[in-house]
Amino acid sequence: MEKKQFNILIKEKFKNINLIAVSNREPVVHEYLGKKIISHRSVGGLTIALEPIMRNLNGTWIAYGGGSADKAVLDKNNEIKLPTDEESYTLKRLFLSKTEIDGYYYGYSNSVLWPLSHIVYKQPEFDSRYFEIYKRVNKKFADSVIEEIKLMNDENSKEDADNIIWLQDYHLSLAAKYIKEYDETLKIGIFWHIPWPNPEVFSICPEKKELLEGLLSNDLIGFHILYHCQNFLKACEWELEAQVNWADYLVTYKGHTTKINPFPISIDARSLYDFSKDMNINSDDFNNLKELIELPHQFLALSVDRIDYTKGIKEKLMAIDLFLEKYPEFIGKFIFLQLGVPSRMHIKSYKEYYDEINSMAEQINWKYKNDDWYPIVLFLKQLDLQSYIYFYKIADIVIVSPLHDGMNLVAKEFIMSNTDYKGMLILSKFTGSSKELTEAILINPYNIECFADSINNALELDDEEKKRRVSKMQDIILDNDIYDWAYNFLSKLKTI
Ligand code: UDP
Repeated sequence: MEKKQFNILIKEKFKNINLIAVSNREPVVHEYLGKKIISHRSVGGLTIALEPIMRNLNGTWIAYGGGSADKAVLDKNNEIKLPTDEESYTLKRLFLSKTEIDGYYYGYSNSVLWPLSHIVYKQPEFDSRYFEIYKRVNKKFADSVIEEIKLMNDENSKEDADNIIWLQDYHLSLAAKYIKEYDETLKIGIFWHIPWPNPEVFSICPEKKELLEGLLSNDLIGFHILYHCQNFLKACEWELEAQVNWADYLVTYKGHTTKINPFPISIDARSLYDFSKDMNINSDDFNNLKELIELPHQFLALSVDRIDYTKGIKEKLMAIDLFLEKYPEFIGKFIFLQLGVPSRMHIKSYKEYYDEINSMAEQINWKYKNDDWYPIVLFLKQLDLQSYIYFYKIADIVIVSPLHDGMNLVAKEFIMSNTDYKGMLILSKFTGSSKELTEAILINPYNIECFADSINNALELDDEEKKRRVSKMQDIILDNDIYDWAYNFLSKLKTI
């Protein structure tokens, strides 16, 4: 859907709605730089997806404030109007202690739910203390929503307005339960941005019943793909003996019915395409980026991933090693650029993964290097979107090889940036996006031999075939972009 059309539709259909979105991560972080306060957008699919919606609906976004100056810029209700030049939506921050961050964020969310939901053979670190803090923090988010609703009622901001609460992601699986305890008539939906595992995997979680009960307090639960919806329904049958209506994807538990539905998330596809089309890659503005790949090469392979063990970065490096072994004609001609920001480095497994990637890259480079060439360039720092687009435009192949991923927006961003049809996408079958982007070269990232061959196949594709495949994928992405995602979720929630 075009942005213009979305603005009109959303304003028409939701004019009497107060939208409260709740997520762990905030869209904008304020930091001290000396005595000055600077702000920057935070990294990740969720922020990129939700911000345009909040702007259009003048909503309130409740999130954890983690920046050093986050408190300093708020009013007495812990709120700030954003973006600074537009003031179209409100960000309401809540603050967490170090113990809460350790137990709720690094602990239960990212050392239990993250590995449990992504089937990557990483054992979750079950620890009941994490869950206690996770519950406490979910209650804190719920209290913040309730405070906001009371404020709205006092201000009577929109005459006869209905409140819609849209929770985001696995950090907040219990929040709806606490909000409904305050007012069971409030309409609440949650979008689960990561996979939902099969029932055998889910059954090992000690807190499985409480998680399901918390989630079933929502009126609508969204997943990216049908398979995750089905896994969730099976878990409700297995663990709660809840009544599941398989025809309509409804779960009834303790008298309350929840609708389960797939909503594949996407990107602001049209804007990205237009921006990329107008971009002049020969401009001097990109000289600093060109320096990253000044090694001699004829072929550039690229990846952009948060440094995370679910992203399959080690398997990719193994595949590149094997590719150079099997196809030595590419030695001296092929380079691979891995971009990506380190994340969750307080968790041991993330730090170890980061170190392993660095040492694997070093070993592969040592194995193949000659006087002025080596194959792998790691640049593990955050870049702005324009820089990613620059690399998407000049890459011959982009490799997206997660072992398991709810959707993966990088794949979609690359396809929409590829306005000259120069590059080809190699995409893991275990991403949600592979269900839509079937014209990519699909791989099983665990099968290193086939992975290596697919790099060769992608480089050998002729221009006409690349154009055919890429333009087909562009049409598919344009057909269901970020505005469709938001509109579809909110429309469904409104009519429940
Ligand atoms: N991204 C980024 N820096 C990085 C890696 C990713 O800014 O180092 C952006 C990327 O452009 C995309 C989003 O963050 O918009 C990543 O979303 P995705 O669904 O691919 O993965 P996630 O990081 O949310 O698991």
